[in-house]
Amino acid sequence: MIHPSKKTDPSSPPLLMWTCPTCGRKFHRSKQPHVCDTTTVEDHLRGKDPAVVALFHTFAQAVGDAGPYEYAPIKAQVGFQGHRRIFAGVSLTKRGLEGYLDLPRRVDSSRFRNIAPYTRRLFVHHFVLTSADQLDAEFLGWIQEASQVGQGLPTR
Ligand SMILES: [Zn+2]
Repeated sequence: MIHPSKKTDPSSPPLLMWTCPTCGRKFHRSKQPHVCDTTTVEDHLRGKDPAVVALFHTFAQAVGDAGPYEYAPIKAQVGFQGHRRIFAGVSLTKRGLEGYLDLPRRVDSSRFRNIAPYTRRLFVHHFVLTSADQLDAEFLGWIQEASQVGQGLPTR
């Protein structure tokens, strides 16, 4: 049995302290074991329909309006990472964006294809966006909630 983090002060939430020198991802713990993934945002955009690329940038802009983020691209998708955790991700498809938002509550909307509990207080909401029109006030509100999850802020 190994207890490497016994001395961690439980009153101070972990920040993203360590950047893997190989893949550039940030972690709460130094030398966090993980699979290095050197996928870049450019890898995701390359060869895609310009309309879908534009939709991606519109989505990223909306996430940026909600709060600070850094891209956390992996092969499966481009993640959006706040100070505390990754809170959203999208991949570019032929028709648009397929992605998810981590929300602190279950939002029963037909706009989400699938909702799965991640923890008792965190639900992964899967969506498909095919047009920038769909980034309306309702959707931007969800992005705002997800961003707060990413920053580790209280969400209600
Ligand atoms: Zn790595």
